[in-house]
Amino acid sequence: MSPRPKRTRILKEPPTFSGFFPMGGEYDTKSVVVLHFEEYEALRLSDYQSLNQEEAANQLQVSRPTYTRIYSAARKKVATALAENRPIVVTGGDVEFDTRWYECKNCSCVFKAQEEKMTMDTCPVCNSEEIIPVQQAGEHRNFGEGRGRKSSHQGEEMCICPKCDHEIPHQMGIPCNSNLCPKCNIRMMRKGSNRHAFVLKKRQNKES
Ligand SMILES: [Zn+2]
Ligand SMILES: [Zn+2]
Repeated sequence: MSPRPKRTRILKEPPTFSGFFPMGGEYDTKSVVVLHFEEYEALRLSDYQSLNQEEAANQLQVSRPTYTRIYSAARKKVATALAENRPIVVTGGDVEFDTRWYECKNCSCVFKAQEEKMTMDTCPVCNSEEIIPVQQAGEHRNFGEGRGRKSSHQGEEMCICPKCDHEIPHQMGIPCNSNLCPKCNIRMMRKGSNRHAFVLKKRQNKES
């Protein structure tokens, strides 16, 4: 009997982060725990949204036993990362997103195609041609660069589009990059953060 083909899981959108680092202590950047997108989604559905396994399996469009397998693999991986002081990277797995999402290898902006079936060739922010589907981005990611946040800031915190500079007030508990710029379909970022400064530099290089 031939094995049943693996079903592709459909996710609405990729998570707003690419991974986690242990804070303090020593860790080896090569000892990363790879959490697949559907495993991250299972933790979000079951432990954050508190769905029961039936509901969560339906959301992920997999059978109940498959869901149980994905979910327990996810828990094991996260527990391993915590217990062994290892970074977590979210990437890969058998997933498609309902629209095409890309990450730029040059400025690390994340954006989605304007229309469902459309493919994109260049980064809308820095014009780089080195853009890859978000599903594969974790393997190429350059950790640390342009990440993190300045500790001192003045005035109201804002989320900003790295391309058109459209701003909205930042809301506590809602990551800036869970907001998509309504015009550009690009994930927004914290105005004035290290990461914002990094992207602006990349954008300047494109303009000069
Ligand atoms: Zn770019
Ligand atoms: Zn924009």
